[in-house]
Amino acid sequence: MSTPAAAAAGAKDESQIRQKRMIGEHFERLARARHDGRKVVYTFVPGNLTELIASFGMLSVLPEINALQSGMRGRSAAYIAEAEKSGHSEDVCTYVKCDIGMLRSGNIGPTGTKLPEPDLLLLSYTGCFTFMKWFELLREQYRCPVAMLHVPYQPDGVITPSMRAYVVDQLKNEVIPAMERVSGRRLDLDELTAQLARSAAAEDDLVAVWESARHRPSPIDGYFGGVYYVGPIFSAFRGSEEAVAYYRELRREVDARMAAGKGPATPDGTLAEERYRLVVEGPPNWTSFNDFWRMFTREGAVAVASTYTRVGGLYDTGFRHDASHPFETLADYCLGCYTNLGLPARVALLERYIREYHADGFIINSVKSCNSFSAGQLLMLRELERRTGRPGGFIESDLVDPRYFGKANIENRIQSYLQMVDARRHGGYA
Ligand code: SF4
Repeated sequence: MSTPAAAAAGAKDESQIRQKRMIGEHFERLARARHDGRKVVYTFVPGNLTELIASFGMLSVLPEINALQSGMRGRSAAYIAEAEKSGHSEDVCTYVKCDIGMLRSGNIGPTGTKLPEPDLLLLSYTGCFTFMKWFELLREQYRCPVAMLHVPYQPDGVITPSMRAYVVDQLKNEVIPAMERVSGRRLDLDELTAQLARSAAAEDDLVAVWESARHRPSPIDGYFGGVYYVGPIFSAFRGSEEAVAYYRELRREVDARMAAGKGPATPDGTLAEERYRLVVEGPPNWTSFNDFWRMFTREGAVAVASTYTRVGGLYDTGFRHDASHPFETLADYCLGCYTNLGLPARVALLERYIREYHADGFIINSVKSCNSFSAGQLLMLRELERRTGRPGGFIESDLVDPRYFGKANIENRIQSYLQMVDARRHGGYA
């Protein structure tokens, strides 16, 4: 098959350069944290309370981001082997093993600087039991305080007033007092609300970027490209001036791309022809990220929406951080993360994406490590096919364990799936 990817690989966009600089500077701040007297909070991406942490002048470390970065940089296999050597089973989430292996190997972060030890482990429990086990391991290692925020699961996709009140109560009576003890400061409500207002501004721009994919051709890839777009907002930057500037710039670039009728950027330049529009469910594989992406771009397949890029916040269903209700909005944010939703709500979201983004079908990448995502995916596949009449594809890989990325097998499955999409197109959709 001829390849619709790609006009010559171009220079990086300004937003990409900006993001790289932001991340580099954050890791430098972490490396200097002890010297500068700044406290450090380890926390997870879904349900992260970045604005609250920053309002105390503390710095965030997100272990999943370190693990995925290690995967992309070819270091995860050695870290996982190190963790397995010390007794962690093959079945354990590979983010955890990658993190434990990194810790045992000197805790050198993705940019090559040493990560500081945590002053607080902030466990926002949003749908994943592994989070709890992971921080139990880190607590044994670091012997630092743990603050737990128990976020109730949303079985019906609805946040009830009692669920919100339960989370707000923990924020006021458990989490904030723990932060005050660790930081030695009282909560600065003005600073928190300023952070939240900036979050909302960045979220508006991110949603405009997601919605650009309704256009044909889509100017973005909402899965492979999308994981770069969520970098700042899912990590240490939501609520910062830098995040506002990043998303403003990204939106400008995407608007210009759309006005010029251009397809998305790919590892090999701009996609020249959009042949398939797909919705993707599940996290990507990080150890062969560009190889995986090219399996789609070579066929002209573009992800117009994905659920993984909603794991750290679902903004395109209308949620924005609301500075006028700081505690309630933090509660709603945590409650609304994708992995905190029950299967009916997940299926409804995917159905909506397939219809609203005029997708030809959907692909599920079922990762071995992550039960939070993988449980129920075959059921979701059947239900989505029934509701939409669009074909679903199912592939299996892993997050950061390269032993579970079977390149030839995955490529075969993608190609067979796209042939099925062609056949259905010619036969007409239900
Ligand atoms: S099981 Fe999934 S959600 Fe839980 S820590 Fe691992 S990757 Fe994250």
